[in-house]
Amino acid sequence: MPIYAYKCASCGHAKDVLQKISDPVLSECPACGKPSFEKQLTAAGFQLKGSGWYETDFKGGNACAAPAAAAEGSACAACPAATAAS
Ligand SMILES: [Zn+2]
Repeated sequence: MPIYAYKCASCGHAKDVLQKISDPVLSECPACGKPSFEKQLTAAGFQLKGSGWYETDFKGGNACAAPAAAAEGSACAACPAATAAS
């Protein structure tokens, strides 16, 4: 679930909101109650989270898409780290 950075244009209150993509966009500031709460385009938290997960999993060798195949002793083609280790 992506995290959206919101900021109020009226009072400057900023908040990261965890939302489903299908959730409605928030517009009311929880701090001042004015309808000036806006979603920021620079959702740094979301971008870091996404790429971080992907790279960490891949380098760590835990991203094998077929753990069953690895357990049977055959190299998982989708997992270069596992192939090199064996
Ligand atoms: Zn506000």
